[in-house]
Amino acid sequence: MVRALSTIKDAVTIRTGPTDSRRHALTQAQQLYSLRRSIKRCGQAGHKCGGALCARCSGARSGRFRRELYAAVKHQPGTLVSWTATVATTPSAGVRQQWADLLAVIQATTRGGWLARQGIIGTARAVEVARSADGWHVHAHHLAVFRNVLSAENFDTFALTLRSRYLAEADRLGIPASSYGQDIARTRSAHAWTHYLDKGGIHPDGNDTASQLWTAVLAGDADALHLAHELEAGAYRRRMWTTTGVCRPVPDFDALVAAGALD
Ligand SMILES: [Zn+2]
Repeated sequence: MVRALSTIKDAVTIRTGPTDSRRHALTQAQQLYSLRRSIKRCGQAGHKCGGALCARCSGARSGRFRRELYAAVKHQPGTLVSWTATVATTPSAGVRQQWADLLAVIQATTRGGWLARQGIIGTARAVEVARSADGWHVHAHHLAVFRNVLSAENFDTFALTLRSRYLAEADRLGIPASSYGQDIARTRSAHAWTHYLDKGGIHPDGNDTASQLWTAVLAGDADALHLAHELEAGAYRRRMWTTTGVCRPVPDFDALVAAGALD
């Protein structure tokens, strides 16, 4: 049934719908309660913070990274491998400590150009922070692009070697990690991988930890606010998204020309 819109209020309600109004409420909750000055100020005077933990910016940010990665690797002929790296969840370990531990093990595993020597010409990494009843769970999802197509045998050798290197380095560094937490697999496509990764940013219906915490804050949950602050502090000045080699964004030549960079 179509009905005439008699007031501005009706028009706004119908145009924005319930999801948009709840998303707006989330951004307002962050402006009141976030620890981050950049998030509190986001949206003022047309300025956007672009932050991964900002309800206003995180959705567009993850969509941009997904599109950039897909554009960068979609024509790569070699094998694509996904690699999830984790450290053990312990109730006492805070976000920041776990994040540092995880990166230390990954860096030790791959140091000295080890990935390049295996034939990998580009990587993308997304760090995710989840909260469960056991505590924080910081983990990293990687995409690795091989120059060539790997045989089944070569893939198996690579996967076993990477896993055992990772666990050996964790052991050497005294950081608990289990073989069950490490997943290495061929991925069907960069498209499938980026969709698997994409949690869509902070959203009232999001199933990621940041979305759930801020939705609970909105409902008046003080424990959730404490955890949201732990997450913000733990992620402070940490990179949630990194790319190397062929996974780096392809230059947008239209934008470069418009900026005068190619004159
Ligand atoms: Zn923002």
